[in-house]
Amino acid sequence: MISRAEVLARLPYTHVDDHFIGGAWTASSDMTRNPVTDPATNEQWGSVPAATEAELDQAVGGARAALPEWSGLQAADRAEFLVRIADEIEARAEDLALTNTLENGTPITETRGAAANAAGIFRHFATLASWLDDEDARLFPVGDGSYSVVRKDPVGVCALVAPWNFPINLVVVKLAPALLAGCSVVIKPASVTPLSIRFIIDAVAAAGVPAGVVNLLTGPGRFGDALVKHPGVDKVAFTGSTPVGRQIASACGQLLRPVTLELGGKSSAIVLPDADLHAMSNVLIRSCMRNTGQTCYISTRIIAPASRYDEVAEVVAATIGRAQQGDPLEESTVFGPVASAAQFSTVMEYIDSGHAQGARVLTGGEAAEMGGELSAGQFIEPTVFAEVDPAMRISTEEIFGPVISILRYDDSAGVQDAIDLANNTEFGLGGIVFGGDEDRAQAVADQVDSGSVGVNFFGSNHSAPFGGRHDSGLGVEYGLEGLSQYISYKSIHRKG
Ligand code: NAP
Ligand code: MG
Repeated sequence: MISRAEVLARLPYTHVDDHFIGGAWTASSDMTRNPVTDPATNEQWGSVPAATEAELDQAVGGARAALPEWSGLQAADRAEFLVRIADEIEARAEDLALTNTLENGTPITETRGAAANAAGIFRHFATLASWLDDEDARLFPVGDGSYSVVRKDPVGVCALVAPWNFPINLVVVKLAPALLAGCSVVIKPASVTPLSIRFIIDAVAAAGVPAGVVNLLTGPGRFGDALVKHPGVDKVAFTGSTPVGRQIASACGQLLRPVTLELGGKSSAIVLPDADLHAMSNVLIRSCMRNTGQTCYISTRIIAPASRYDEVAEVVAATIGRAQQGDPLEESTVFGPVASAAQFSTVMEYIDSGHAQGARVLTGGEAAEMGGELSAGQFIEPTVFAEVDPAMRISTEEIFGPVISILRYDDSAGVQDAIDLANNTEFGLGGIVFGGDEDRAQAVADQVDSGSVGVNFFGSNHSAPFGGRHDSGLGVEYGLEGLSQYISYKSIHRKG
């Protein structure tokens, strides 16, 4: 394992005093510095400036000034920039991964995939250029030869606001389609993860993207609010919590400003009576507790048939209980710390509520005692609760930590009870159906009221739309549908 001292010695970005504005790293005029803390040790190892109002004006103004040149290119030419950005990201993979792991405690095997995934997203969107460039003429139905030329104009200057759980991916899935569409952007990363995203910015600059098209400003949540409401912004793309999403939606509603919102979730894994529990065990951590439970779409409620409840509970508890928790820099680590002291408190409060409301702990259930340099870290034992009643808080609210709840459904007369339990939530983001007969499992997936559902696995497909229903959000990311969120349509009518 690489030591923290070695990591810090090699990282280019620790204590920084600049923002990326107008194509250059630009020293901040404000002396306020916000800390960056390693949640595995609780040591502060970096800091970033808080952007001022003047810097915000400068970034948004520069982004607006850059629009004519960038949007004036053919999409095919912008796609070439996207491919170059992908190459430049791959060249920065290791420092990006180490920085991300020190920021939020995501295990290194996961963050090592972040650059490749980001590059893959850029390459995918690059393949969609012809959808923007190709002549799109549509005949009038009356049949006199009149037609409309449909233009896909860029929506303009986009504010991209991201959370801390996947700080690279959740920016890139906005940045890549925005750039392909011909938009310019101002990015605000989460306060917990403000440094790893700088490698993406460096890749953009190295790829030769014109000055002003991409800007990065760091600052607290209230700075995000100022960015969202800035008069020079045309569109907002946000990933984060449902409460902040509602505030942003209100602001954008008032301004009639287009907005996409990827918010919280409380997704369910429905275990059908014929499920292969060994196969389920192999994908359980990735689909139900990925990134120490800090993944929006994971299925943290397992809905088990009464006829096999104890068997399911035993497999889930054994799988979670034997996975290694430890230093996120260690390659064998499956579960790291949670991302911050604030997240530690939130998750522990949910675990306490599970105990208090009478759920039964099968494994975990407490803060984890770690030794050595990890002793002050934000570690929580991966926890599985059984006998969870649908009304308990651990069943209804998003915990965003390493906690799984196992509910029971009555399978004596089919699986409708399981579907009802899965859909009995304010959210609608993900889900998974485990079943031996894949067609029957898909028929159940069809009835799950959410934006994405997996059958015996859950993956994200760059070409398929991803988004939430109900309190999980508005609009989608990925694929042509995701690209279209950065487009403003215009129809030009011509006489036949
Ligand atoms: P958050 O508290 O909502 O923050 C998200 C981002 O918004 C951060 O950059 C934050 O800045 C900023 N922000 C805070 N208040 C703001 C305001 N009033 N106006 C504008 N921006 C503001 O979410 P989080 O705690 O970072 O992330 C966890 C949440 O993200 C979970 O609910 C999770 O489900 C959700 N998530 C959803 C998806 C999805 O695709 N649906 C994916 C991943 C995560 P600061 O960090 O400086 O406060
Ligand atoms: Mg927060």
